[in-house]
Amino acid sequence: MIEGPPRPYADFIPEFLKGTVGTWVSHRILEPGIVEHTSTTGKRVYSLRAAATPNARYSTDTIRKISQLARKYAGATMRFTQALNMEFITSELDQTEDLKKELELLGFPVGGWGNHLWSVTSCAGYFHCALSATDSPSVAQKLGNELVEYFNWQELPAKLTVSVSGCPSSCGGSFLADISVNGIHTEVPVVTPDVKKCDLQGTAFTCPVGAIQLKPTPEGERTLEIRQNLCIGCGLCVGACGGIIFESPEKTDGHSIAIGGRASASRYGTMLGRIVIPFLPNEPPHYDRTVGAVKRIVDTWKEDAKKGERIADWIDRIGWEKFFERTGFPFFEQSMEYLDVRGIATLRDGSGR
Ligand code: SF4
Ligand code: SF4
Repeated sequence: MIEGPPRPYADFIPEFLKGTVGTWVSHRILEPGIVEHTSTTGKRVYSLRAAATPNARYSTDTIRKISQLARKYAGATMRFTQALNMEFITSELDQTEDLKKELELLGFPVGGWGNHLWSVTSCAGYFHCALSATDSPSVAQKLGNELVEYFNWQELPAKLTVSVSGCPSSCGGSFLADISVNGIHTEVPVVTPDVKKCDLQGTAFTCPVGAIQLKPTPEGERTLEIRQNLCIGCGLCVGACGGIIFESPEKTDGHSIAIGGRASASRYGTMLGRIVIPFLPNEPPHYDRTVGAVKRIVDTWKEDAKKGERIADWIDRIGWEKFFERTGFPFFEQSMEYLDVRGIATLRDGSGR
């Protein structure tokens, strides 16, 4: 058993950075994905950022290659950031440029920071989670592929973050991104006879809105009943008990898109995104309508925003009415507010699906 606190992080920083803690006074972005830091001693080091895979999942072979690059150029250290990027620190600029070339040959674009796309993140989706209504890492991959020019060369009005959640629980914090795509369920789950294999009371307690109640059966046993008028389609009960299922998720699961979130506490403080597109069909493997909608938002913002305006600032200046007018998205009165499963289902059925 390991006792005591974790080892200090300074144990793991490369030799060339030891003794520099607290001396870094300025930095400047040299190009997308490369930042120069200057210390009070005059020492300079360089951070390099590369886009990782959506959901930061790697084969051991790839991890070995990344480790070799870290050993060759970055004092044998690197880190994976919370936004699922890779970051390396080198002591010489020409090493940074060589590292960039090698990472790009491996298929990891170098970019981000400044007025660019910073990250496309996703939750684990189907890999680890029973709640997922869409394959969030695949959606993130498609969005990353389509937006990569904004990561490494094309400038945007300001920072842009994109995040994908497999369901509206958004446990990865997607609503804090400038643009978020969130999987949604639009049907009320059904209780099957297999429910009796589950802990009934525990399952009922998983429901955040109290929509599940215990009910006696004619045989004198107990089962569960879902009150349709209360259910918000979150899927928590489906995750908790294999005897509760969505009957036709391939037809009813979809995506919603929210914009204007941000995690930083600067200016207006932390903000959650608002839903501007309540339902788009889940269309693997290319997710054309979802990718098209995100691109339309980015293109309109790029065209219309003043320099320095993140999406929330832009909307704040022009107003929601103009946002819908300029993007051409249909405005649904309900879409900006809380939508229950019936509200979303109504929009879904009118979406041409
Ligand atoms: S956002 Fe939803 S689908 Fe994704 S990991 Fe969290 S609970 Fe699961
Ligand atoms: S899907 Fe969510 S809201 Fe509906 S019954 Fe299950 S836990 Fe409750």
